[in-house]
Amino acid sequence: MDRIEEGKAGYTSPFPYVEKLQSKMDEILSRQVPNNGSFCSFCFGRINVTENQCQFCETTDLSNQVSAVPKEILMIYQVKRRTESIWVYTGALLGLMLAAGLFLILVLWGPGFLGHPGFAFLVLIGGGYLLAQLCGPLICGQMGYRKGAAKRDALWTTYLEKTESKD
Ligand SMILES: [Zn+2]
Repeated sequence: MDRIEEGKAGYTSPFPYVEKLQSKMDEILSRQVPNNGSFCSFCFGRINVTENQCQFCETTDLSNQVSAVPKEILMIYQVKRRTESIWVYTGALLGLMLAAGLFLILVLWGPGFLGHPGFAFLVLIGGGYLLAQLCGPLICGQMGYRKGAAKRDALWTTYLEKTESKD
């Protein structure tokens, strides 16, 4: 599945560090990277021992580092991930159904060689692939990216409000 490059789907996150952290959180969510180490207590970006500033949110207050990204935070990033993939898969499915519909129309009513099952089959396979790509990652993926990122940012806003009211 093609990844949509950050910021290219017509949505700009009000939190640039959340946008930057998405791929890092995705790595933890998919267990490509273990959820332990030193993380910024504000944005939960990973901090390397040599750094004296968080490379994500740019805070220089690194006194309260946490050893893992809390589940509550990972869930926020998972919302973006899930929303986007639901849109991509639904779009791809629609593309396949469109090709299947086209196949039936050709077989049932296609004049001349257009109605030949071999040609219709080619349309089903080739068209199915193209339409799934077009409707999935290209069209619906962009929608899912925007919707997912907006949901994630709303959840992050709520989280910030909650932590601020605690102080
Ligand atoms: Zn940070």
